Amino acid sequence: NLSQFRQRGPFEWELPARGSMRVPGVIFASRALIEAMDDKVGEQVANVASLPGIVAASYAMPDAHWGYGFPIGGVAAFDAEEGGVVSAGGVGFDISCGVRSLHTGLKLAELEPVKPRLADVLFRRIPAGLGSTGALRLKALEMTAMLKGGAGWAVEEGFGHPEDLARIEERGCVAGADPSAVSEQARHRQRDEMGTLGSGNHYLEVQVVDELFDRKAAQAYGLAEGDVLVTLHCGSRGMGHQIGTDYLRAMVIAAPRAGIQLADRELACAPLKSELGQRYLGAMRAAINCALANRQILTFLTREAFAEVFPGIRLPLLYDVSHNTCKEERHVLDGQKRRLFVHRKGATRAFGAGHAELPAEYREVGQPVLIGGSMGTSSWVLAGAGGAEERAFASACHGAGRAMSRHEALRRWQGRSVVDELAARGILIRSPSLRGVAEEAPLAYKDVGAVVEAAEQAGLARRVARLRPLVCIKG
Ligand code: 5GP
Ligand code: MN
Ligand code: MN
Repeated sequence: NLSQFRQRGPFEWELPARGSMRVPGVIFASRALIEAMDDKVGEQVANVASLPGIVAASYAMPDAHWGYGFPIGGVAAFDAEEGGVVSAGGVGFDISCGVRSLHTGLKLAELEPVKPRLADVLFRRIPAGLGSTGALRLKALEMTAMLKGGAGWAVEEGFGHPEDLARIEERGCVAGADPSAVSEQARHRQRDEMGTLGSGNHYLEVQVVDELFDRKAAQAYGLAEGDVLVTLHCGSRGMGHQIGTDYLRAMVIAAPRAGIQLADRELACAPLKSELGQRYLGAMRAAINCALANRQILTFLTREAFAEVFPGIRLPLLYDVSHNTCKEERHVLDGQKRRLFVHRKGATRAFGAGHAELPAEYREVGQPVLIGGSMGTSSWVLAGAGGAEERAFASACHGAGRAMSRHEALRRWQGRSVVDELAARGILIRSPSLRGVAEEAPLAYKDVGAVVEAAEQAGLARRVARLRPLVCIKG
């Protein structure tokens, strides 16, 4: 229903503040994308806009769809000095789910002849699927070290190289993790899940660079047409889910005492300046480190698999960026520098050129923003636009976004025929679950090309490279 929006620009739609909304809502999308968007997104954007201490606006990215409390593709920032809150549902249950891409140094022609073998080796070595467990069992002390150390811990344990860390958001470890705020149950669930992909839309994909859109940024990122990349998409597994569950429950119970009226139980949150808010932040950061360590261990397994087929191969990182987080960042608002807690749920941090936190070699072009599409369409590498025209607290989309529910996808497609059709197009799928494959059929997602074009036109990020899938290990 477009009539509720005021169009600010061809790719920007404002939901004016009304009722209990403290700030307006803003959705970045083309007309076609917003027309096709689930009405629930507008409703959820408005709900988020009513939370205490929210600043500027409640945003949704062009890939937005309905989520738990906050929309997936939602971005919202809160000021602790103005009664701002932190919300477990605003981060999402798969805390620090994210994407990591690796260079292989291979060209398409070198990969094609060994594609089936590589697919089998990857499938054998990468634990994937519901309830899959890894070869690593963490004892209590190791678990605590992992929750504090993130990918840095994993590198120290032998799962990679120190130079990997420079290409990870925050160098692979967020400060302020509080392992004592993580429940026994969360630890228990994670004990044997380190180095596993998980299920559903998590994947390991071998991809080829199909087309470049920004040669300067592509050069800085080390990307050329025909280059083969490997991309991992996964998060903090049982650890993140349990922390999300634990704190959501605690926030629902504590809200009335904190004077917070919830329009929706799913919006449960706690003041940043409360013990519960601080404990959640500490636990959530521990889960971020868990996800970063998990992607580091999976990188190690991926390197072993590639070396089995290409002895001596190295797989250096392009970048690793999360899309389910709440981070403390400084942003300029109405000419003033403010310390804010930015929730990005199904949204990617997209720092622009010049940002001090970027690796030196990327600083001139902006942060790599890694975007999944689907196992049968393209994925993308974008560059953060940011800079002086920073929008939505330097955030961009994170994927194509679902166009329909898993249930609807299951009604329409059969896993076996999806696998066969993709194989006929040269895309090899390996998955423990055909049902999962059906739920993830390419047409269950929006047109990722339209989503990234909208992100570019809205000034959130620039298109750098389009990637085509070759092999997909699907959880
Ligand atoms: P989410 O983080 O919301 O779980 O998913 C992120 C995005 O990954 C989705 O919006 C979708 O566009 C993308 N995606 C899901 N499955 C696949 C896949 O198998 N391969 C690729 N390249 N992207 C996928
Ligand atoms: Mn994700
Ligand atoms: Mn996830």
